[in-house]
Amino acid sequence: MGKRHSSTSSNGRSVSRNGKTVYVRRTKKRYKGVGRFVFFCVLIIVLLVGGFVAYKYLTRDNYDSKASFAKYTNNYFDETNYHNDFGEKVENIEYEKPLSIGTILPKIDDEDISADINEYIITLKSDFNEKYSDVENDDKIALLISYSTSESSKNTKSILISSEVRKESTDGKLNIIGGNVKTFNYTEKNTIELKPILVFNAGYETKINKLVSEKLKSEYGSDLTKDYKSYITSDSGYVENYELSKDEVSFDFKAGTILPVAKGNIRLVFKNSDFKDILRDTINPRGIDPSKPMVALTFDDGPNGVYTAKLLDIFEKTDTVATFFELGTNVVNVDNADELLKREEALGCEVGSHSYDHPNLFTLSDEAVAAQNKKTDDAIEAAIGHKPVLYRPPFGNGNAEISEIFGKSGILWSVDTQDWKTRNAQSTISSIKSQSTLDGKVILMHSLYKPTVDAVDEIVPYLKENGYQLVTVSELLTYKYGEDPTSNKFYGYNFFYPSNPLDK
Ligand code: ZN
Repeated sequence: MGKRHSSTSSNGRSVSRNGKTVYVRRTKKRYKGVGRFVFFCVLIIVLLVGGFVAYKYLTRDNYDSKASFAKYTNNYFDETNYHNDFGEKVENIEYEKPLSIGTILPKIDDEDISADINEYIITLKSDFNEKYSDVENDDKIALLISYSTSESSKNTKSILISSEVRKESTDGKLNIIGGNVKTFNYTEKNTIELKPILVFNAGYETKINKLVSEKLKSEYGSDLTKDYKSYITSDSGYVENYELSKDEVSFDFKAGTILPVAKGNIRLVFKNSDFKDILRDTINPRGIDPSKPMVALTFDDGPNGVYTAKLLDIFEKTDTVATFFELGTNVVNVDNADELLKREEALGCEVGSHSYDHPNLFTLSDEAVAAQNKKTDDAIEAAIGHKPVLYRPPFGNGNAEISEIFGKSGILWSVDTQDWKTRNAQSTISSIKSQSTLDGKVILMHSLYKPTVDAVDEIVPYLKENGYQLVTVSELLTYKYGEDPTSNKFYGYNFFYPSNPLDK
């Protein structure tokens, strides 16, 4: 009674006089309801899971169709397109088995840059096809190529081309088995290639290696390869793959150098503020092209009250520059010397030291050499607000030791015009024109003679017409030789002969 009552009331649906029968029937009915419910649940789960698996399978990034491979290529692009400041995206899918190539590149207006990138891509592809030429037919190996483009606040552009080789394993995963990075850096206006020395201050290698090493340790720790340290301190040239954006300096490393290959290419990103002592304030402001010929005219023994201004008139009207190795005594005693030096700097010319009063430094004590340097520095600093970084010893009598005492790089010359001796414009002109090449050379003249001024008036247009860029000695060291002009080195007679050491 109690049971029947409780069953009936708990069920609340059909009430019967025959408690037992009703009980059994009701139990069957309940099982049926539960079974149906479970069945539908399972069905829904199966459909959901199946649908999901099918969806994942059909849409997975893989190799199985041209469309899915294109999607895979685009995913790689999304991973590596850190910046997209310029260049329209151009996609090219070469889908084949066993080797496929998916390429996404920026459309670049400048023809030279575009040609450089194309050449690089052709090499990447042919290296890939050659390296994997004898793989099995059922292998699936892909070369993926992507890019990142950025502009900096210093009028530079960077184009990173990153590529990875991925191979599909038996479980359908695509594993990274190789990679590469190359960054094309150039000035915005003149599209001149920017080697690291043109972007980072002299001595950048040690500073950048230290920053990079510290960041690698903190970001990757024990994942780093055994040899990562020797890789960054060797001449691997990883710094060339720098990228400048509006507020970051980044470096890209190809797969297998810093981390195991399977981790792919990696990128380290620094804030511009981390690089404030390393980045140059201005990057190649005069637009010097390191790949084109350049020459440095130098004038000793000034400033001269008459001829320095006449030389500057020529440089001003031709928009060219030279280097003036000045004597401290003239800076102190010549009328308007300060104005002359200021004008030299304003025109982009370089002011160097030529000692105070032209002694043979070889005959002086170290103290006397130091005094010659200091008195000249003081005079030049009073005129233009800073000390020179270069000096030229009188009579060419200098060496590494004297450079140390001066705390400057010593600069001799590779073309001696003998203008002081001949005092003849034609003779000076022919001493320059007779050189088989002037590329990378330093020409010695003096600021003291009218024939020299006349010669320069003819020589400057001649040099320009013949494709020479007129540069200062510091610019010549940086742009032609990739050297640090503040290294206190001594650049003797044999240094400035890049094209032909026997040519004089
Ligand atoms: Zn001299």
